[in-house]
Amino acid sequence: MTSQLSGPPGPAAAAAVNLSGRTALVTGGGSGIGRACALALAEAGAQVHVVDLDAESAKETATAAGGIAHAVNLADTAALGALPREIDILVNCAGLQHVAPIEEFPPERFALLQQVMVMAPFLMIQRCLPHMYAQGWGRLVHISSMHGLRASAYKSAYVTAKHGLEGLSKVAALEGAPHGVTSNCVNPGYVRTPLVEGQIAAQAEAHGIDPEAVVGEVLLERSAIKRLIEPEEVAAAVLWLCGPHTGFITGTSLPVDGGWGAN
Ligand code: NAP
Repeated sequence: MTSQLSGPPGPAAAAAVNLSGRTALVTGGGSGIGRACALALAEAGAQVHVVDLDAESAKETATAAGGIAHAVNLADTAALGALPREIDILVNCAGLQHVAPIEEFPPERFALLQQVMVMAPFLMIQRCLPHMYAQGWGRLVHISSMHGLRASAYKSAYVTAKHGLEGLSKVAALEGAPHGVTSNCVNPGYVRTPLVEGQIAAQAEAHGIDPEAVVGEVLLERSAIKRLIEPEEVAAAVLWLCGPHTGFITGTSLPVDGGWGAN
């Protein structure tokens, strides 16, 4: 029996992702999933740039990650010019939600969601690709959603933006392939973050039920696993996509959804 293998590390050894020498940038890194991604990438050895609307939360995550904070409004195209271009791993995570029927949906809110969740990722990819192409390696990871693959009523702007992000990711995968750059979406179900806590409170009020019931009866109705996902579980998928054995995975969408999509 062989106890010692020669050659490159096998999958078990490589599962410990080593990102020493890599530079990552995480948008929306001040909170929730983005914060968990920034910490996971830093723990794997990457230098992490944390971008967020809120200066305090960006700073708090950057301090915890030993990284660099950037307070930037991603809806402000000109402000993106202040961000670094020499990024090896780009995690497009920043997002927001607005829930209303189409006939009452404020067009300016619809436009804002497209700006933050489609236009900003496009501009960030555009900024980072020349560096990635020049070195022949790069990882683009986009925090999409199960709403990038399926629709729910009253979330027209969010569902439109996430479907747009899915298309953008696939095109980046095709263009990036000859240059060693992969592009993938991670598609969470409901994650325990401030974004979802806001929705739980709003739904509890709208339905006149308590927040526990919103989670069990409304949000997780389709989910096979009846609990919210933790941000660290999403970050683990992001980290895996940056590891040594995922170079052939590109243009795909990875549900982390407790079986929501299977139902
Ligand atoms: P979160 O805790 O609210 O984090 C989102 C972050 O994005 C916040 O720090 C927010 O800053 C930032 N952000 C929003 N607008 C911005 C702007 N214009 N410029 C810069 N930063 C901005 O939410 P989350 O749940 O972690 O969501 C992260 C991503 O995961 C989103 O794209 C979301 O659609 C996606 N997602 C979430 C879930 C879920 O169940 N939570 C499920 C599927 C997908 P402020 O706090 O200062 O506004």
